[in-house]
Amino acid sequence: MASIVSRAGWGARKPRTAPTRLARTKGVKVHYTGGHVDPRIVDDHARCIELMMQIQIHHMNGNGWSDFAYNLAACPHGRLFEGRGFEVMSAANGSGLNTDHYAILGLVGNSGFTQPNSALLNALRDGIDLLRKRGAGPEIKGHRDGYSTDCPGGPLYAWVRAGAPRPDPLEDDVSADDLWHKARIKRKKGTLEEREVSPASFLQELEMEQDAQSVQLDRIEKMLGQLLAK
Ligand SMILES: [Zn+2]
Ligand SMILES: [Zn+2]
Repeated sequence: MASIVSRAGWGARKPRTAPTRLARTKGVKVHYTGGHVDPRIVDDHARCIELMMQIQIHHMNGNGWSDFAYNLAACPHGRLFEGRGFEVMSAANGSGLNTDHYAILGLVGNSGFTQPNSALLNALRDGIDLLRKRGAGPEIKGHRDGYSTDCPGGPLYAWVRAGAPRPDPLEDDVSADDLWHKARIKRKKGTLEEREVSPASFLQELEMEQDAQSVQLDRIEKMLGQLLAK
């Protein structure tokens, strides 16, 4: 289960008015942020908090709403953010559509960071399950169901249509790009000089390293065999 970042935890402002209580809905609608989400968000949870604050300011000052619109939000680090919270009405689904469904946001844009990773999908799923424990019915829909919008974007909408499944833990979605990125971060944090290599050559290096290790293991095994034979 995703750990939850409370409103205080992400520095949420107080709502202008108390939220409208809503004890029961048909289900949950899934949303994305749309717009550009800086892809560096994947390596920096502080950017998630910043984005949450920006969205709240946009909703309160730009749209004139009483608060951040969504009940919950999920980030690419597998955390759940408390938005309006449980058993209250969202402002996200469109006028007249907020009594039927709660709303959950995935921090995914339509440019930059656009492909939800496993951690984000798991957190969204956790959020949906939590909302179900607190009054949501079985429906899982996208913002675009019944409202003219591209939200929640192609990848999240496909996931919604598939029934919001948990990502397969065995099918690791770590791509060569991700590995490359992680390695670069490690190098930055360590004392080694930073090198930039392409994903393909990085994978090749990794393979060579593994080959070298297995050669060493073979050698150790042989030595052990010789020792035991004595
Ligand atoms: Zn939406
Ligand atoms: Zn995060």
